[in-house]
Amino acid sequence: KRRDRELRILVLGLDNAGKTTIVRRLLGDDEAAVRQTAPTQGFCIRTKVLVSGYRMHLWDIGGQRSLRAYWRNYFERTDALIWVLDATDPQRAREEAAAELAALLSEPSLQQVPLLVLANKSDLAAARPPQAIGEALGLSRPVPSSPTEGLQAPTSVPDATAETLANS
Ligand code: GDP
Repeated sequence: KRRDRELRILVLGLDNAGKTTIVRRLLGDDEAAVRQTAPTQGFCIRTKVLVSGYRMHLWDIGGQRSLRAYWRNYFERTDALIWVLDATDPQRAREEAAAELAALLSEPSLQQVPLLVLANKSDLAAARPPQAIGEALGLSRPVPSSPTEGLQAPTSVPDATAETLANS
């Protein structure tokens, strides 16, 4: 896949985490459109060539409980997984996110797939720091911040703290 510089990236997380917002920001949608984002119903595939020349196919898949059973339909040929979570979520939602992410990471078809955990809504006072979120998710092996080649977010992405964590 590297050869043809195509990357298929799954964007997953609980509903309301901010998946659609981050996809739109990454793709440079205008700010008014970004602000009008409604929670993802079903899924949406967006494509755009980003800085390093890779054609990124971002699969933004709805996070409602009723849709989660369909996530697995998108695992094949996934190059990277972005797990978006709302850093202001109360403990119960954090536990739900941790359980869903743990289930994903045990999927055989995702074993070799790099994972980016995006602690979103870090602009809000109630946001938990990335370190605490990593711990809450049971991700104990953070790697130094050297994003996977071709996956750097544009530096202009505001309101989000990205932490790269090892997919163990
Ligand atoms: P999705 O269901 O995961 O696709 O979530 P959306 O992208 O629809 O976002 C859910 C809500 O959170 C929307 O009202 C967004 O405007 C809001 N939101 C998303 N990202 C951020 C952020 O970084 N900061 C704040 N304060 N709100 C955000």
